[in-house]
Amino acid sequence: MNARPYDVLVIGAGSVGMSAGYHLARRGARVLLIDAFDPPHREGSHHGETRLIRHAYKKGRVYIPLALRADELWRELEREAETTLLVRSGVLNIADPEHYSFGSRPEDARAFGIPVEMLDAAEMRRRWPGLALPDHFIGMYEPEAGYLYCERAIAVCRRLAEAAGAKLVANAPVLRVAADGTGIAAETAEGVFRAEKALLSAGAWFGRLEPFVKFPLKPLRIPVAWFATESGDYRAGRFPGFTLHTAEGGFYGFPDIDGGGLKIGKHDGGREWRPGEPFHPFGHEESDEASLRGAVRQYMPKAAGRLLRSSVCRYEFTPDEDFVIDRHPQHPNVLVIGGLSGHGFKFASVLGEIAADLLLDGRTRFDLGAFALDRFSAGPSGL
Ligand SMILES: Cc1cc2nc3c(=O)[nH]c(=O)nc-3n(C[C@H](O)[C@H](O)[C@H](O)COP(=O)(O)OP(=O)(O)OC[C@H]3O[C@@H](n4cnc5c(N)ncnc54)[C@H](O)[C@@H]3O)c2cc1C
Repeated sequence: MNARPYDVLVIGAGSVGMSAGYHLARRGARVLLIDAFDPPHREGSHHGETRLIRHAYKKGRVYIPLALRADELWRELEREAETTLLVRSGVLNIADPEHYSFGSRPEDARAFGIPVEMLDAAEMRRRWPGLALPDHFIGMYEPEAGYLYCERAIAVCRRLAEAAGAKLVANAPVLRVAADGTGIAAETAEGVFRAEKALLSAGAWFGRLEPFVKFPLKPLRIPVAWFATESGDYRAGRFPGFTLHTAEGGFYGFPDIDGGGLKIGKHDGGREWRPGEPFHPFGHEESDEASLRGAVRQYMPKAAGRLLRSSVCRYEFTPDEDFVIDRHPQHPNVLVIGGLSGHGFKFASVLGEIAADLLLDGRTRFDLGAFALDRFSAGPSGL
């Protein structure tokens, strides 16, 4: 007789964890999801309504197969839940070539059959009159890319996972994890939960699970703003999602959805934060609004209206900005998925499937070599 009520514990039921819970439960596993908050929530890396989904990725051989499968799975999830999760708005990647290069991304994308168009500044201004770009800027347009409704996606995974029999313990931070040859135990204020296997997917909060698992991770505080637009040029349906690489750094953003304003965030330069430290609201630092407004004013000037909404969110960077997807070095029954480095939401669907494949079947069809934990071992902060 199996003395444990669960096959798999999922510790951290956010983007990756909730998706894994959904995939595991629909494949018949007895799953317990444990989260420190009540997902979707505003204390992790997954709030703020939208996330870009792009396929013409850097390190193409590594990421493009994952991005394509992720896209398929988002579509399947939409059909099952009968709700919109993915909007194919197109994504325009804009760059000042003096500061940024697309590298082999266009060729890599085409090799996988992903359409991309290379555009000069005049063509970008012609297609999207809301843009004010200097003549030397270049663009790479991905017509089949777009954005995901992130909190809605997590809520859908939660509903479908629970419908398939998964249990969720919310508002129960895991205080300690322990494992032996027979299983894994997670200690919370609600009690100790045990299962044969586990997924650790704690996002920016992995530091809380040390010393059980430890890898180099830098959590950051990332401000995001929504600015009122003075022109219909930025409206969803007319304006794409975008990335913008300039002398001032790397930005990304979304069209004005239903009058909510043009949303913009900055990918680099957030302030470091550690679990346990205060997490300051938007506006705590003068640069929160100023740096975002500055980019909008310069390159999308009619979208630099009133600040309609703002948010602060958590990134979690690994040193190479590649994910961790690996078994625990001492406990092969424990899978670790984290370090999504500010670009992981689009992959949450496929990472959930991979977690189920690895935990239930012991294998996946994806090459995960680039995501191994031992790549950090040589460095001073290695395991
Ligand atoms: C502002 C912003 C914009 C972004 N834009 C994009 C984008 O356009 N495209 C894209 O693909 N990605 C984007 N990202 C990145 C993406 O959102 C993240 O990579 C992804 O959400 C991380 O998923 P996760 O499951 O690792 O973390 P989370 O979704 O945060 O989940 C971790 C979960 O673990 C729980 N947890 C932590 N510790 C414990 C514990 N001790 N016990 C129990 N539970 C615990 C947390 O409560 C949380 O629910 C963006 C991120 C931010 C912040």
